[in-house]
Amino acid sequence: MYMNIFKGQDLLEFVEAFKTDNDCREYLSKIKWEQQYACVKCGHTASQIRKDFSRTCNKCSHTESATANTLFHKVKFGVRKAFFMCFEMSTSTKSLSASYMSVRYTVTVQTARLFMHKIREAMKSSENHPMDGGVHVDEFVLGGKEEGKVGRSYDSKKKKAITAVQLTEEGKIRRMYAMVINDFSAKSLVSIFEKHIDVKARVTTDLWKGYRPLAKEFTIEQIPSNNGANFPALHTMIHQIKSWIRTTYSWVSEHHVNRYFDEFCYRVNRSQTKSTIFNNLIVRMVNADNIEHRKIVCS
Ligand SMILES: [Zn+2]
Repeated sequence: MYMNIFKGQDLLEFVEAFKTDNDCREYLSKIKWEQQYACVKCGHTASQIRKDFSRTCNKCSHTESATANTLFHKVKFGVRKAFFMCFEMSTSTKSLSASYMSVRYTVTVQTARLFMHKIREAMKSSENHPMDGGVHVDEFVLGGKEEGKVGRSYDSKKKKAITAVQLTEEGKIRRMYAMVINDFSAKSLVSIFEKHIDVKARVTTDLWKGYRPLAKEFTIEQIPSNNGANFPALHTMIHQIKSWIRTTYSWVSEHHVNRYFDEFCYRVNRSQTKSTIFNNLIVRMVNADNIEHRKIVCS
């Protein structure tokens, strides 16, 4: 099926493209059944398309809505508002809080927060494209007083995190990932390597001994940090992600920090393809497994 994807970041064009809930359902149905329709109950591939863009199987009569089995499933405030939230979160680089969304779209703060977490879930890395080439890795801490220092801290109250950036030939950021870790031991540091770094990458870290054991599996060069001066692009990103988290999410709980990292990195990694970022997010929302409310709130 031919599909016109929404491109750009123009709000007026967006409003024009998605005037009703049904416009949004049509968009979802095109993504969902882009390849071919197959009935989820019996696998039959012929169907009737209904006015609300749901499909009814010609064989067993099972009807599947455009939102079923996507992260838009049972969104009580309407799929159009949900599309607007997706548009804002994918195109804005500002930190948008649940209370802001609540006021903008007349939903409760709780409802906004839950749906925003679903969006973050869709923004999570697929882990299918590990970083290669030149990769810089460093750890940092979140929370507590800033001493203008980036790096390890043994204050147990502070949340610890690790980040890795893939650099261009010119030393600019191509991609970035970040995640919370329990401590700065090799056992914890390795998690970002396993998820996001290809074994063929040329990794550079500071002199921290925690990285030494990882050199068995990865190519790691350790150089002095020189207070971050030897890792300029990486340290700029660490400052940005820390201040981004600090400004809006001072209340961020331990469990949710990774979700905010996912959101931040998702946009950084698509800063060169901003014109299609909304469509990319919607495709992810459609293809993600629908997550139970309980899992998002409590886990
Ligand atoms: Zn069927």
